[in-house]
Amino acid sequence: MSDFKAALQKVTPKAIAWAEAQSELIIAHGVPLSVQGIADARTVGVSSPERIRIAFVSSLPLPGDEELCTIALHTGLLGPDMTGLTLGHGIFIVQGRQSRQLFTHEFRHVFQYEQAGSIAVFLSAYLDQIASVGYWDSPLELDARRHELT
Ligand SMILES: [Zn+2]
Repeated sequence: MSDFKAALQKVTPKAIAWAEAQSELIIAHGVPLSVQGIADARTVGVSSPERIRIAFVSSLPLPGDEELCTIALHTGLLGPDMTGLTLGHGIFIVQGRQSRQLFTHEFRHVFQYEQAGSIAVFLSAYLDQIASVGYWDSPLELDARRHELT
């Protein structure tokens, strides 16, 4: 096993705990989708689009845990180029970067979470793919990119 894969596996439980807490914050404070947003979410497969909440942020939040934060930046998951992050039915969108393409990409990740059944199951599979083939080529990212609407 590569050092990177081992490091990623080691922080996965911490990543799941962070993701669950952030998702709860978005659900509590985020905004629901517009009628068009709900229609788009349904189009890309989401079964409960009314549960989705969006939190607009100036930049994606970074985990307080140093080890987790370093790996998140190293993988590019929370790097400066990222404009959206989906955690269950909660979606972070960087202010000023919203587009139908970005929203539908993130909606497809919501669908993937729904299929997985929990944040823990989804994130374990997702991080495993990133450790194996990298972010860009991971099957879950390829699937999300294929479902973007413009
Ligand atoms: Zn994605």
